[in-house]
Amino acid sequence: MRLLISACLLGEPCRYDGRSKPLPDAVLDRLLREHTLIPVCPEQLGGLPTPRTPSERQGDRVVMRDGTDVTEAYEKGARLACALAAQTGAEAALLKARSPSCGCGAVYDGTFTGTRIPGDGVTAAALKSLGLPVYTEETFPF
Ligand code: SF4
Repeated sequence: MRLLISACLLGEPCRYDGRSKPLPDAVLDRLLREHTLIPVCPEQLGGLPTPRTPSERQGDRVVMRDGTDVTEAYEKGARLACALAAQTGAEAALLKARSPSCGCGAVYDGTFTGTRIPGDGVTAAALKSLGLPVYTEETFPF
């Protein structure tokens, strides 16, 4: 299927710390054989630099650790990710767990203490609202 995928899971160094979180080689090989992968990094699409100060969701807002409100950039990234999904005919999304953009089912609670709460990242929520099935690397049926 056509699968929207967090670029950092493919090895793209687009995370806040300038690093990636690549899936194991064997998993990537299988994904590449069985699916058409459409990489996306909503935080970069939203205009945020890499590296960048880490952010967490605080209710409807997204805030950097230094207090900067970056909600607008996150919402822009979500809109563009949804547009990409529509343009490419994506059938599902495989996104990075717990990211304030990409997380699905659990995110950090906005206190920057590593505390998880139920919830979705901004982009995951937007893709879900379009009816797209959204998985993380922890829930995808590889
Ligand atoms: Fe990865 Fe998503 Fe964060 Fe980009 S926004 S670095 S794709 S988790």
